[in-house]
Amino acid sequence: MVVSGVDASIVHTVETMARAYGIQVLGTISKPVTARQLEDYLAKTSPLAMVPADGAVQEVATAEELRNGLANREFLAFFQPKVSMATGEITGVETLVRWYRPGQGVLVPKDFIYRLEEEGLMDLLLEALLKQTCTYLRAWSDRGLEVDASVNVSMHSLEDIGVADRLHALVLEEDCDPRRITLEVTETDVMSKLADVLNVLARLRLKGFKLSIDDFGTGYSSLQQLNHMPFTELKVDQTFVREAPSDERSRSIIETSLDLARKLSLKSVAEGVENRAEWDLVKAMGCQEAQGYFISRPMPGHQLPDWAEMWQPPTTEEDVRYGALIPALVRKPMSAAACLSGPRVLAAGWSPA
Ligand code: C2E
Ligand code: MG
Ligand code: MG
Repeated sequence: MVVSGVDASIVHTVETMARAYGIQVLGTISKPVTARQLEDYLAKTSPLAMVPADGAVQEVATAEELRNGLANREFLAFFQPKVSMATGEITGVETLVRWYRPGQGVLVPKDFIYRLEEEGLMDLLLEALLKQTCTYLRAWSDRGLEVDASVNVSMHSLEDIGVADRLHALVLEEDCDPRRITLEVTETDVMSKLADVLNVLARLRLKGFKLSIDDFGTGYSSLQQLNHMPFTELKVDQTFVREAPSDERSRSIIETSLDLARKLSLKSVAEGVENRAEWDLVKAMGCQEAQGYFISRPMPGHQLPDWAEMWQPPTTEEDVRYGALIPALVRKPMSAAACLSGPRVLAAGWSPA
């Protein structure tokens, strides 16, 4: 947490710098600090995201552990709903990977994605997650829940021209429609190898996949480049959403991003919506969809239909925090088998190894 009495723009720079060094920054507080402010910030931290399971110190994963983990289906998809801000209707889910690492509990992406990247295993991860996503899309559909799904794609997977054909074939094999799948790419990544990436993005769009620009506002794209990308969705980064209620600069960035989305006919999604104030603000600014803890934390796939039945958008003054129910469900230690062995999933023909 950055605590300082100096000018807000300097504090902001320090915060950005700390994040760039890989430090998890909870936020910034101007002096004097009150206990209430500290409490608010600490309450925002997700135990699932922060605590290595059982309080164990994590060891850096070896290439062999990662390969075994992929072969043994230890990398499991969690799903976080996205909802329409106008109607409250659930429109889709984002697939987020969790690693049920033997002896280490449930790990979140920041603990292991970099190792998969270093070992050149991101393509295998993408395939595993895409398969699980298709399986759940079918299972949810059987229960009357028709949603689309978004899967994160690393830049490394987009460097290879053949990836569009491979993903297309995989999705058809899984009996799914590529038009129901959005691939989320981070803006920073997209811009570094422009020609190759443009080639792959165009192929993916031709095959029916939708494309989302993730964490928008944190990368270095020029508007000109963005105009040439075949994106269908823009996701406003959660740092701006978090700061928006108290920071005019963040509000301006969101406004400009939403304006751009409208002009380029992209669907807009606000990420990291954590409370009613943020929901109201991005809604008033004209954002189309929202995702975040205020709506729900990421959950195992078999929980989604029950959650969808229970979910009600905030319509009254009262702070209706249905999302708050979810941590209680997912925080309990859960084995990989328990996570995926819901009867609906087995009925859909997919079971953990
Ligand atoms: P992302 O794609 O921007 O995903 C959103 C992240 O924000 C997720 O973290 C999600 O749990 C978290 N989040 C959602 N709502 C809130 C909120 O209200 N407050 C806060 N504080 N956080 C919220 P997660 O699951 O830890 O994933 C982090 C990043 O790791 C993702 O960012 C994505 O870039 C990457 N990632 C996750 N799964 C995969 C994957 O399967 N493949 C690849 N290539 N990357 C992945
Ligand atoms: Mg994403
Ligand atoms: Mg994002």
